[in-house]
Order: sequence, then structure tokens, then C-alpha cells
Amino acid sequence: TVVTRFAPSPTGFLHIGGGRTALFNWLYAKRHGGKMLLRIEDTDRERSTEAAIAAILDGLTWLGLDWDGDVVYQFSRAARHREVAETLLAQGRAYYCYATQQELEEMRETARKEGRPLRYDGRWRDRDPSEAPKDVKPVIRLKAPAEGETVVEDEVQGRVVWQNKDLDDLVLLRSDGTPTYMLAVVVDDHDMGVTHVIRGDDHLTNAARQTQIYQAMGWDVPKMAHIPLIHGPDGAKLSKRHGALGVEAYRSMGYLPEALRNYLVRLGWSHGDQEIFSTQEMIDAFDLESIGRSPARFDFAKLENLNGYYMRQADDERLVNALEDLLPELGGDEHHLGRKFTPALRDKLIAAMPGLKERAKTLVELLDSAYYLYAQRPLRLDEKAAGLLADGRARLAGITEKLQTVSDWNAQSVEAVIREHAEAIGAKLGQVAQPLRAALTGRATSPGLFDVMAVLGKDETLLRLQDQLK
Ligand code: GLU
Repeated sequence: TVVTRFAPSPTGFLHIGGGRTALFNWLYAKRHGGKMLLRIEDTDRERSTEAAIAAILDGLTWLGLDWDGDVVYQFSRAARHREVAETLLAQGRAYYCYATQQELEEMRETARKEGRPLRYDGRWRDRDPSEAPKDVKPVIRLKAPAEGETVVEDEVQGRVVWQNKDLDDLVLLRSDGTPTYMLAVVVDDHDMGVTHVIRGDDHLTNAARQTQIYQAMGWDVPKMAHIPLIHGPDGAKLSKRHGALGVEAYRSMGYLPEALRNYLVRLGWSHGDQEIFSTQEMIDAFDLESIGRSPARFDFAKLENLNGYYMRQADDERLVNALEDLLPELGGDEHHLGRKFTPALRDKLIAAMPGLKERAKTLVELLDSAYYLYAQRPLRLDEKAAGLLADGRARLAGITEKLQTVSDWNAQSVEAVIREHAEAIGAKLGQVAQPLRAALTGRATSPGLFDVMAVLGKDETLLRLQDQLK
């Protein structure tokens, strides 16, 4: 059976690229009725934090990506990693290296002059440890093959070949006895029964190194799929401005998890020209062959469109709940909304939702477009609305008095009054409706004006008009 894993280092939030890697692993496992495991690679004790672990677990949960079994913490497996290093040592497939800091520094210097990366020259590979200097604590290095090739048959990149003379003997165990990342990943993937390693192609060279460790242990190498990284819209490395953010930032910006998930699945993978996928459709269609070889470009506009689509599909009450969850991030305090909607406002939001969600692309826009429902008087008009009101103020003269006479206040009765008013002053309906909408909602767009007025009620409508027209 298929076993995939997501193996983030908890040194920061779950960033968008990590979210995509997790999604691909999850989809692949689901597609094949397998499992996705979660391993937290917390061996870097300085940089790993509890907060980052929590953010990763939260981010995955929010995206709806669950994992099988318990979370594996890599650091807790250090003794096992050490055991494998010692096994290799005992089998003559690894050796103690006593090169001093200074010697390594000299090798680095030479490499720098020759314009190539540092390559340990193997000076302790065949040397008798009895010659070891007394004051140097050794590292354990892999006795990697000196000649020939190391090949990775990658499911995405194809056959990738390294000349072994270009790969030096990597460190398995540091002089303080701690395992290196390279060793830990191989031992864990092996012990966890991982069959498919799906990750960013920044790990491609590591894949060659890791292959050498698998081979030294005589273990099967899992299938590998290295996905091109996500680039910015300009083709350059993804920057913060262009979307290199944590998944939680997308949540705060008002994206629905299903929209982000749909966006991410299309980032580097395609299925014909289908853009919209239900979860089941993604699972049914996902494969490694259709992952592209060139970097996907991040495109906020596309994400917004998908989000708009999923908001229109979403249940109204769920959207209200999603808005409520986001209140702290959306400036709920500033609008005196507190942490929860009052029951009255909740009802109004649900009632207005079919109209509101037609236009909004994010939850942030959605809450903003509902401003008229929770606004405190006097309303603060946004720039466009202020412009419309300034232009059309004169056309509203006398309208308050006419509305005053409406006794049975509803969408039809106010519509009749406003049409009559427009006719009387020789204006088109829109020329009256636009400034009126601006005055009543503080925005240039809103659901149907007469419905808005009906929801606001007579008193509130007249008070808002008086605020703006005095
Ligand atoms: N911990 C590594 C990272 O966060 C991933 C290791 C792997 O997937 O093999 O980049």
C-alpha cells in the first residue's frame, strides 16, 4: 500500500508551499487508498518552536488535510538514528573522520578559490583510526561510492544522474553524537514504511545523498517525486508580496479553505483545463505524471476568483460563522462588533447573505459589504461612496420628507416613492439610487437598494439620510 508523508521543519508557520506539498501527499495517499503520515522534523533544537508546531497542525487542520496515526517527532528518534550510523560503521560503510575545523576551513577555502562547493576530500576514509589526534571528537561519515553514478528515477523530474566523484562523504553523526538531517530523514522514512516521498525540488540533491544512505543500508529506496517550487507572478522566487505567506495569513485575508485547496491543487498540477475540483474530484484525478516540470506561478487574481466561486456556493449560515471566526482579524472591535454577532445582526446577515455574496471575493470584502447592517451612525463613507454622494446630493433634496410619509415600509412601497421622486425631478432612477445607496450603506455597491432600505427599517433609513444630507 501507498504510504506518503509530510515532513515539515517547525521553524516557522506552514507556508503556502508546504501547504501544497501536504496537499499533494494527502491526495496521492487518498487516491491509492493509502496513508499520509506526519513527521515533525524538529532536530534543529535552536530553531524549532512549539508555536510553529501548533501553527503547522492548525494550518493542516484548517485546510482539511488529516494525517494517519500519531505525529512522529523526529528528535525523539535520535537514538535510532545513532544506531543506524553505528551499524554502518560496524559494516565498514561509514567511518570516523577526525578532520579538524581548521582542515575543513582550508578545504572550504580551496573550493571557494576554484569556484565550487566545499567537498570533503575523504582524508580519513581509509586511514587507521589509531592515528587519530587525541583532542578531536570525530564525526561519522558515510563511505559513499567514489566512482560511478548515483541515479534518482524521479516521478516528476525523470532520471537524474549524479557523478559520485562530485558527491563527498556526507556526515551521518556529528561529533556531539547528534544525527544529521540526511540520516534522520532516511531512517525515519524507512522505519515509517514510506513508499513515496513527494516534496519540493529544493530537496533533489538531498535525494541523491539519501539514496546513497539507503543503498549502504541495503534498504529499498522509496519512489520520489520532486515538485518544482512555486514562483511569483514575475517568475522570480516567491516573495512575501507575491504570496509567500503562511496558510494562516490566507485565512486572515478571508479565503475559504476549500478555495485555497482548489487553488493549490492547480499550482503545478493539471487535469486537462479543469479549474474547479471538488475534494472527491481532486482525489479521483490526482496523479504524479501530470505534475509540471516548470515552476508554477502564483496568481492572486485566480485565487480570488476561486474564492468568490466557493463563497457563492457556500451555505449562508456557514459564511456568517466564518465571518464571526474572523472578527478579531477583520477589525471587529473597530466596528463595535466584539467577538460575536448579536442574534439580531446574525439574522440580518443571514438574510442579506444571498445578495452580499454575489459580489465579494473574500470574507474581508464580504464583511465590508455588509457594513450597512452593523454600521454605527453617522456612517463613514468609503471614497467611492463619498464621491457618489457629493455628485448626487442635490438630487436627494426633499426625498427624506417623501419617505417620511410611507406608512407601510417595505421594498415595494419605498421603491414607488423613489421612482416617483426621480420622475418628478426629471432624473433616471440610477441617478437617485446611487447617491442614496452611498448615504445609506457607505459603499458604492450593495445588494438591491430597496431591500437594503427594507432591512434597515424606516427610522434607521431616515436617520442615516438626515446624517448625510444636513
Ligand atoms: N523538513 C524538510 C523541510 O521542511 C522536508 C524534508 C523532506 O520532505 O524530506 O523542508
